[in-house]
Amino acid sequence: MSAPAIYAVFGASGCGRSLMPIAREQLTRLSIQSQIYFIDDALNELTMINGHPALNYSAFQALEVQQKYVLIAIANSQVREKLAAKIQQDGMQLWTVQANLNVVMDQVEIAAGAALSPFVTIGSNVRIGCCFHANLYSYVEHDCVIGDFVTFAPGVKCNGNVHIADHVYIGAGAMIKQGTTEQPLCIGQGAVIGMGAVVTKNVPAGVTVVGNPARILNTNNR
Ligand code: UDP
Repeated sequence: MSAPAIYAVFGASGCGRSLMPIAREQLTRLSIQSQIYFIDDALNELTMINGHPALNYSAFQALEVQQKYVLIAIANSQVREKLAAKIQQDGMQLWTVQANLNVVMDQVEIAAGAALSPFVTIGSNVRIGCCFHANLYSYVEHDCVIGDFVTFAPGVKCNGNVHIADHVYIGAGAMIKQGTTEQPLCIGQGAVIGMGAVVTKNVPAGVTVVGNPARILNTNNR
């Protein structure tokens, strides 16, 4: 009979190698004794990375097990979306990984495939979509609504009543001013918030904002 379940971190570059210890810690916390693989398509053959077996997606797919759980540890949100669809089509589960040192308050809904790094805090009454990445020391305060494939770099401060659409990327140390119940502060789909930006008002979809107060980056001036 095949093993009941195996686990994998997809991506063996910076993001994946930083999330692997958190994934390992989670299995220990849950008393699950199972192997965690790295999956990376750049690999041609089975190898070892940081003490874990590492192989490409086809080789992982070929392993005979009843259930496979995969955390997509790749910062690029478009790649995460593509791989999430493929993994589920192939009958595997998206795996959510949370560090021991997280604080998650009341009535928080987090969809599958999230990665919550150490010292992340999620306030009360927050909804978060698929494959959210919250890197070290970032927080999401009360009543925020976060879409699918959103990425927070380390130290992002997202205050209360902020709505963030799909595929938004927020750079290290950026701060988002709080909105209100009647008028949440909204960040549009695919927007990029530069490192250290201080966002004080709504951000349209698809733009990049930088600075304090954050302003749209005029790409003609680069
Ligand atoms: N990768 C992959 N399959 C894909 C896309 C990416 O295995 O379809 C791997 C790629 O080979 C690389 C990692 O994902 O090792 C992404 O690493 P990168 O340094 O670009 O970014 P990170 O997300 O780790 O910051």
